[in-house]
Amino acid sequence: MTPLTSQAMYAPEISSPRTDPANLPWMREQPHWAQLPTYTARPAWTYPLESAWSRLSKFQTLNCLSWQQLTEALSVLRTTNAECGIDLRASDAFDIPTLARTLRVPHADLQSAFCVQSNHEVVLDAASQSLRFCQSCAETGFHATLFQFAAITYCPIHHRALRDTCFNCARSIPYRLDVALMQHPYACPTCATSLLAGPLHYQRCAALAPRTFDRLRPWHEYFAWCAGLVNLDSRRQRDISSGQYLSNDAIQRSSPAQDRLAFIGDLQRYLCNPPPVLRSDRVHIDALPRDLSGPPASAPHISGCVYARRWPNFDASCIALNTLYRRAKSAHLRRLMRQNVPATLSPGAFRQLPSRVLLIDGESAMLTVAMVGWRMSWERRFSLQTLTRCVRSYPPFGLLEWLAFMPACYQVPRDAAPNEALLQYFKNDLARTWNAWCLMAASMRNSGSYIASPLLLPTRALWIDPLDRSGTFLVPHFLSEKDSTLLRDPPQPIVL
Ligand SMILES: [Zn+2]
Ligand SMILES: [Zn+2]
Repeated sequence: MTPLTSQAMYAPEISSPRTDPANLPWMREQPHWAQLPTYTARPAWTYPLESAWSRLSKFQTLNCLSWQQLTEALSVLRTTNAECGIDLRASDAFDIPTLARTLRVPHADLQSAFCVQSNHEVVLDAASQSLRFCQSCAETGFHATLFQFAAITYCPIHHRALRDTCFNCARSIPYRLDVALMQHPYACPTCATSLLAGPLHYQRCAALAPRTFDRLRPWHEYFAWCAGLVNLDSRRQRDISSGQYLSNDAIQRSSPAQDRLAFIGDLQRYLCNPPPVLRSDRVHIDALPRDLSGPPASAPHISGCVYARRWPNFDASCIALNTLYRRAKSAHLRRLMRQNVPATLSPGAFRQLPSRVLLIDGESAMLTVAMVGWRMSWERRFSLQTLTRCVRSYPPFGLLEWLAFMPACYQVPRDAAPNEALLQYFKNDLARTWNAWCLMAASMRNSGSYIASPLLLPTRALWIDPLDRSGTFLVPHFLSEKDSTLLRDPPQPIVL
């Protein structure tokens, strides 16, 4: 009896069919199943590493939805203000798992269609707010996420310069999901000229062959790796002095991200393939004594490091590491001498490019290039002159970055005095970076020239592996406040 009673009490009354349905609030809407619309998606018409702009434009071409229908179909989150359009560089305006189901593509595949996950990430400012495209790719219905980053100047597939304006009216195309995209998908919103060479369903005939992505993928992965090493801080959204919120353009103008990644444009210009990325396989040194506290802290002896007087963070650990670094450098130089390889480059063999990289003649010895690059990683100097002329006057700047990351990653106590574990890890990482530079120089050898810069292998790359996170550009925020302050304001290298 009881179940029947409760059903009678709580179930909506099934009243006589003569009752006007409009008077019953729960009858005004149609049943839930009837509301679910179906959309046309052609997952076979999409490519790996394809941008969100390209994917969503194709979706709209296939479905011809109104603005309201389009935002619903694309799972735009209710918290997003879609009235002025949605920035397609960041994925946080969308419900990505639902959108991936609608587009019938894997979740990770769709995430790589966006430049960043959140619009608070500093790498957002390295991506352009207007469409940057390769005309040959666009004609076949392809646009890579990578093209949106201002550092990338050439299409790796066609070796063609990227455009940032319409080829018909020379106006820029906003990289946004907005009413203009809804009305003219895959086209210029100003003059409505399509970027496609023909109707979308014909593009399958002219489709890019899968092997062409072998030329794009290494650059995508290299850029993701470099961007992940920079993407440690949030975007500065307020003015420092007034505390006022800044406009998107003002944030982008003052952001260091674009400048920090600009060197990849030079790599594209002079190398066939990007240098190999250093995977951050953390090393565990088990043979070390368990007592890691080290000797008691003492005032650092800075007679040999005059520069250190100006630095509050420079302590006895830094001095001990500096000594180890100099010994390792001497050992490498002696080895080069034994092999009859010059330790430094001849003056005519290199020139400095505006993006703070050295372009080195391909005739130079590979080990010499590795030596110059290795010193640049640890000494953070952008000019060969500072490497050769200022032998003892400046400290190894990369060492400070190493100290900022290292204790957090290996859980080694960061005392003022050096301890044995710290020194052992440092020796190990000196060897790892030497091996990495030898590998990078070897990979550049066939391109006809070499490129060296501390930007190619910052010491933070020893622990951070941005590619280990489903191909997104994110890295974990494990830095302490003090460490990130040190990185935000590192000592500036002096370029002669
Ligand atoms: Zn192309
Ligand atoms: Zn146009």
